[in-house]
Amino acid sequence: SIQAQQLSQIVSSLQNIRHIILILSGKGGVGKSSVTTQLALSLVHKGNKVGILDIDLTGPSIPRMLGLDKMQVHQASGGWVPVYAGLEDKNQRLCCMSIGFLLQNKDDSIIWRGPKKNAMIRQFLADVCWGDLDYLVIDTPPGTSDEHISIAEYLKETNPDGAVIVTTPQAVALADVRKELNFCKKVGIPVLGVVENMSGFVCPHCEECTNLFSTGGGEAMAEEFGVSFLGRIPIDPSITTLFETNQTENSASGSLVTQYSQTNVFKIF
Ligand code: ADP
Repeated sequence: SIQAQQLSQIVSSLQNIRHIILILSGKGGVGKSSVTTQLALSLVHKGNKVGILDIDLTGPSIPRMLGLDKMQVHQASGGWVPVYAGLEDKNQRLCCMSIGFLLQNKDDSIIWRGPKKNAMIRQFLADVCWGDLDYLVIDTPPGTSDEHISIAEYLKETNPDGAVIVTTPQAVALADVRKELNFCKKVGIPVLGVVENMSGFVCPHCEECTNLFSTGGGEAMAEEFGVSFLGRIPIDPSITTLFETNQTENSASGSLVTQYSQTNVFKIF
């Protein structure tokens, strides 16, 4: 069980952060980390100071997506110093803390048991020197595991704004979203809304959008649960190229700005 002292450490570590947003998904591979990165970058480009906390211990992909995967975190007297993305505009600020920065070998996987994972998550929440942030966007592991229950408990006194749930349009993914929505209800985390990722394929030649899978499921589910539907992001091969090719952070953020400015998904914040 969580001790009061641990909770107060977390509250004090996150006290200068105005908004805390969790990104959840029912399963892996639906684009949770891509959405986290795009959301964070869109908030930065609106003039906010943003931090990303990557606690997807199963596959920490944020450092790679930001072109920061060769970086390491430093330990200062006040805790871990997050890694800063070198954005073109020097007034902009985006920093990141990830389990990925702590792995010796990037291909290592985390095969810890629950208690060790929970301790790691607690340390990430209590021991990072974020400084003043407008937003902290937290990329969580897929599903609703013990780790999620810990995260919800650790964060309960920090008043997180809520969770964005990422899904794809297929029925199997939607069944998992249902679990995710029920989980949020149970632990008292408000749901900011549902994003349907990989929703249709935009032809690079004619720009017509083809629905490869059924569509509208995310929206129907959001309606059923009385939560907002934030919008759709089509399958766009340039997103994959961007995130798979280890580009520099400058070109990645530049291209991404163009990406999400075309969608309404990130305009709600
Ligand atoms: P998750 O965090 O849910 O496991 P990722 O964000 O790592 O998923 O995405 C899985 C893969 O799908 C990555 O290779 C990513 O680049 C790709 N991807 C995600 N969203 C899109 C999209 N809208 N269009 C094309 N590729 C995408």
